[in-house]
Amino acid sequence: MRPQILFPLFAPLSSLPGIGPKLAPLVARAVGGDKIADLIWHRPTGIVDRRTTPKLAQALDGTIVTLIVTVDQHQPPRTASLPYKIRCRDETGFLHLVFFRAKAEWLTKLLPVGEQRVVSGKVERFRDEIQITHPDHVVPLAELATVAIVEPVYGLTAGVSARVMARTVRSALERAPVLEEWLDPALIKRETWPGWREALHALHTPQELGDLAPDRVARRRLAYDELLASQLALLLVRRQQRRQTGQPLIGDGKLRAKAITALPFTLTGAQQRAVADILADLAQPQRMLRLVQGDVGSGKTIVAFLAMLVAVEAGRQAALMAPTEILARQHFATMAPLAAAIGVEIALLTGRDKGRTRRAVLDRLASGEIGLVVGTHALFQDEVAFADLALAVIDEQHRFGVHQRLALADKGEGVHVLVTTATPIPRTLMLCAYGDMDSSRLDEKPPGRKPVDTRIVPIERLDEVADGLARLAANGGKAFWVCPLVEESEEVDLAAATERAAWLETRFGAQRVALIHGRMKPAEKDAAMTRFAEGEAAILVATTVIEVGVDVPAATVMVVEHAERFGLAQMHQLRGRVGRGDQQSTCLLLYQGKPSDTAKARLAIMRETEDGFRIAEEDLRLRGAGELLGTRQSGLPEFRLVDLVVDSDLVEIARDEARLLIERDGGLTGARGATLRTLLYLFERDAAVSLIRSG
Ligand code: ADP
Ligand code: MG
Repeated sequence: MRPQILFPLFAPLSSLPGIGPKLAPLVARAVGGDKIADLIWHRPTGIVDRRTTPKLAQALDGTIVTLIVTVDQHQPPRTASLPYKIRCRDETGFLHLVFFRAKAEWLTKLLPVGEQRVVSGKVERFRDEIQITHPDHVVPLAELATVAIVEPVYGLTAGVSARVMARTVRSALERAPVLEEWLDPALIKRETWPGWREALHALHTPQELGDLAPDRVARRRLAYDELLASQLALLLVRRQQRRQTGQPLIGDGKLRAKAITALPFTLTGAQQRAVADILADLAQPQRMLRLVQGDVGSGKTIVAFLAMLVAVEAGRQAALMAPTEILARQHFATMAPLAAAIGVEIALLTGRDKGRTRRAVLDRLASGEIGLVVGTHALFQDEVAFADLALAVIDEQHRFGVHQRLALADKGEGVHVLVTTATPIPRTLMLCAYGDMDSSRLDEKPPGRKPVDTRIVPIERLDEVADGLARLAANGGKAFWVCPLVEESEEVDLAAATERAAWLETRFGAQRVALIHGRMKPAEKDAAMTRFAEGEAAILVATTVIEVGVDVPAATVMVVEHAERFGLAQMHQLRGRVGRGDQQSTCLLLYQGKPSDTAKARLAIMRETEDGFRIAEEDLRLRGAGELLGTRQSGLPEFRLVDLVVDSDLVEIARDEARLLIERDGGLTGARGATLRTLLYLFERDAAVSLIRSG
């Protein structure tokens, strides 16, 4: 249970003074959570310096100042459309405070005639006079010290004023308890980090713009806290998984040997290493959890297939789950002939298979007659039962939630799990998302691949591009044409792609152009794909739905429109659709307008390298981690304070420290252990704490 000392931080926002039922949800939206803790992690995005306190005669036009004035005279407007003015003075001159649509009663209370007030806001010169329209602060003299400061500014949301936000964060900070230090004193000393509470305070009281920079010690310390909590949690989960003993899965190698002989190529060194890694894992009494990473075209399918054969050799079963119907069918199409060649039964099971065929597959899976099955998420529906599932392969990992991953593994006893992904994951992200999950990299392309000729072309040269495609099509070639995500709206996307397809049709004729997008029914998508892959369509226009992994060897050109809007990883994935055969392939990155510096840097990297791992690292550097894996489903924890670009060094330190801590005191029972439990609760890793007890 959460320690009592943290209760104030987990109280609802509405328990703060001035935050009623109306304001609470608005603030919650602004800070991304409805607890007081969410407020204290909410970093300021700017500052307003109110420390200048001149006499009225010295107040400079256009500057933010804090003034001490005596209220001289109220000047109510003659008509409601005019502002209410209040004249104030000091010994050097006059100032008008200007209020539009303000209630006289409220102003009389706020600024009583004859009294001194502190006012702060932006000075404007109006003819010979100075004025402040809607001052940000009006307080009695006694409160001067609370106003004449550098004020933090928080990202604004409709309905929450800057002032309310700042005040709310301040009162939240007052609730932050004094907590015993959980960090290693030596680390704190080396990094010159402040304590937890001081760090929070510093985070919210920037004194200059530079204090907002991510490299400042206060944020770094808090980020490390978050990383340590996250690494501890991952380790605890992992330890738990290791403990659920699996069964060693060992085959006699006969089917694998036959399959390798049947292959029209020899395995690359990287493929052999990955297979060896997998075999070693499978032979252990613990469950395997291994990630195989490799660019599109690096040959993951055969690695997965060989792993699956081990299950069949052992008289058990293996399943491969792909994220989409098309991909499932494609894997099946690749594996089925190989399976047939070596006399192994393989089945396909997707949401589209219905009725008797489906029933038959289900029966034969349940009886164990079928050793291998390929499918979509349909595989983990309740009605699917395996006789003896030993290995689950999950393709294109990042598209599945953690939940789904486990659901398939639950279809058997101690099922070994192999995950494959074409999205190379930088090491920092790997550590954050999976802790010390084992991973193999296919960092070697099958031989004979020619590098893709990548060119960056302004959209003004669209006609030339089309002429080039006409020559390609005349020689029987094929091209992809991708239209980007223009907005978050699928309709707008679709309009752009439809329009482009129509334009191409006017040049090439309707038969030669196919269109595929996310709104189409699966059967329509299939038909479009088939027209392109096997039929007379030479150009496939696609929105970004174009399936990861789609394999059309005859396609040698990839046109990406509005390339300046794509992330690096996305462009890299798209380019991977071509260059799969032995023919020279081209990728044309069309850009429109004047790309931003980041966009230019991305395009330059695309031209420079085809190494997916390098591209992933650059992507992380240019974009930050948030977008890199795309969705929440990435498995990457949602950090409040960590900036994986700036904090990549801390990730490694946190991982090492977490390991050491668990080795020394796995039950977190010592004095330091108690503080670490508090840390886990502070960052809401409650589930991980519950695993400690079983340790
Ligand atoms: P991935 O799933 O990693 O994108 P695939 O497994 O679909 O890649 O393989 C891409 C293509 O490369 C397939 O046509 C496959 O037959 C071929 N391939 C795989 N391994 C090799 C190899 N070692 N040598 C030559 N071709 C290979
Ligand atoms: Mg693949």
